Amino acid sequence: MNSQTQSLYSQIPSVDRLLNEPEMSALVLEFGQHLAVESLRYLQDLARQEITRTASLPAWASDWAGEAQRYLTAKLRPGLQPVFNLSGTVLHTNLGRALLAEEAIEAVASAMRNAVTLEYDLDGAGRGHRDNVISDLLCELTGAQAACIVNNNAAAVLLMLATVAPGKDVVVSRGELVEIGGAFRVPDVMRQAGCRLVEVGTTNRTHLRDYRDAANENTGLLMKVHTSNYSIQGFTAAVDEQDLVTLGRELNLPVATDLGSGSLIDLQQYGLPAEPMPQNLIAAGVDLVTFSGDKLLGGPQAGIIVGSKFWIDKIQRHPLKRALRAGKITLAALEATLRLYQQPDRLRSTLPTLRLLSRDASEMKQMAAQLLSPLRQKYGDRFNVEAEPCLSQIGSGSLPVDRLPSYALTFTPKDGRGRTLEALAEQWRRLPVPVIGRLQEGKLWLDLRCLQDESKLLEMLLA
Ligand SMILES: *Cc1c(COP(=O)(O)O)cnc(C)c1O
Repeated sequence: MNSQTQSLYSQIPSVDRLLNEPEMSALVLEFGQHLAVESLRYLQDLARQEITRTASLPAWASDWAGEAQRYLTAKLRPGLQPVFNLSGTVLHTNLGRALLAEEAIEAVASAMRNAVTLEYDLDGAGRGHRDNVISDLLCELTGAQAACIVNNNAAAVLLMLATVAPGKDVVVSRGELVEIGGAFRVPDVMRQAGCRLVEVGTTNRTHLRDYRDAANENTGLLMKVHTSNYSIQGFTAAVDEQDLVTLGRELNLPVATDLGSGSLIDLQQYGLPAEPMPQNLIAAGVDLVTFSGDKLLGGPQAGIIVGSKFWIDKIQRHPLKRALRAGKITLAALEATLRLYQQPDRLRSTLPTLRLLSRDASEMKQMAAQLLSPLRQKYGDRFNVEAEPCLSQIGSGSLPVDRLPSYALTFTPKDGRGRTLEALAEQWRRLPVPVIGRLQEGKLWLDLRCLQDESKLLEMLLA
């Protein structure tokens, strides 16, 4: 070590000396002695590395308390941060999908604070089943005989397949072998469930005779998968559930549908694209229907299986059920969400997902008009800030071709450089409440469909 390095090293104050500085008492008060000491040791280490690398003290060495404050604030910031979802996708999987209803939030808080009748039957003081309460609700809402709840829809499909067709063939149309967001692919789930996938038909056309020809003594299930995130257009044919059920009855085979999203209400009454409803499939005679809790249903992450008592009883007894079952927090949120569906005329105000999806473009247009001038003042020298019509997506397994008219604030860099735009997006991602927009056509778009607190957004963007 040369003498210059040595002299720089000696300028690193000791932890004791730093702790005695008056500026440090606020730090200790805020974070406690333990974390304050840890942060100073960490900064000492950082300073030594800087000296070795650059033969100089770090710039912050004149303000150890300030740097320790920054370090500890970052260290203690929760990893799961609330953000403004202005991406234009309402049910954004990477942003946690559905926002829950206040009723669900309260039910969760209560279930977390208290002992609850999770598997406790108050009438008989015996051991109830944890899905019982929700099962009754789901039967009421879908017309099914029974229901089963697991952690997500992927788990629902896995458990259903493992129960109904272990070691057997499952017949699926080639046009329905979907991949959902990375890790869920129908053929992989089949394999994991111990089933053999039998693809029938072609990518664009599958007929009833294709299912019939594929069925033999090894067949355990006829299955349909809702092609939620893509659409096949043009010369197409698919078999509807009604016909598949008729064939299933004839061949003595169960029929199942993985709906993915599914909606318990007719979305068209809100001006939204039609989405298949579990109750219609149950009415058509489908034995088992699976769907998600946190997609269009607007509840917590959960997987729901509804169907015949015969199959649901078997599913409930499968050893995998124990591994995939939902906890009391999920069940509390799901029950409270489903109860809202008992009063469908109020759903638009009680269910945030429906409220956001059915918001009229004029509402977003008005918000955009109000936000425009303060944002122009702040960003106008570097960006052209405009209010523009745009199209939102439902997200999470609803057709990407179905778009909802909305309004956005757009930021176009005056220097025309993509780097300037990316720097802005990055700057907003670092805000205390990060603002997530969408980069498209050389602009940063803030789709206002999911904006609920305009003044908070302004506070962030003007800070
Ligand atoms: C979304 C989806 C799944 C997976 O559901 P998760 O709740 O995300 O596990 C499975 N199948 C289809 C058709 C889907 O759309």
